[in-house]
Amino acid sequence: MQECLFCQIAAGDVEADVVHTSDNVVAFRDINPQAPVHIVIIPKEHLESARILRDKHRDLLAEMYTAAAHLAKANDIDRSGWRVVTNVGADAGQSVHHLHFHLLGGRRMEWPPG
Ligand code: AMP
Ligand code: ZN
Repeated sequence: MQECLFCQIAAGDVEADVVHTSDNVVAFRDINPQAPVHIVIIPKEHLESARILRDKHRDLLAEMYTAAAHLAKANDIDRSGWRVVTNVGADAGQSVHHLHFHLLGGRRMEWPPG
């Protein structure tokens, strides 16, 4: 999947501001931040989106969410509040077709999202 931008970031072939890595997960600051804290959390494994998730991905998802909680604390938004968003498909505006969570915080957010 060398044409996939997030696979290339996970492999270290494309530079990114990486803030967390583990055996299965990488997190980096979004290049076009939508909030004071905007971190993208991805699995190292190429998965298109949440659309294709199965039971076997349970541990991976737990690891991604745990990374989000850890990064929220590390970025000092654990008490003020934060949001995790994953865009799936065209209507949600998914632009990179490699599963990712957006961790957003550091400002008051609207509900419902746009
Ligand atoms: P989505 O629109 O949900 O698919 O999110 C893709 C996100 O990746 C967007 O928020 C982009 O700003 C972000 N992005 C694209 N290229 C890069 C990059 N090279 N480094 C960091 N973030 C990126
Ligand atoms: Zn990929």
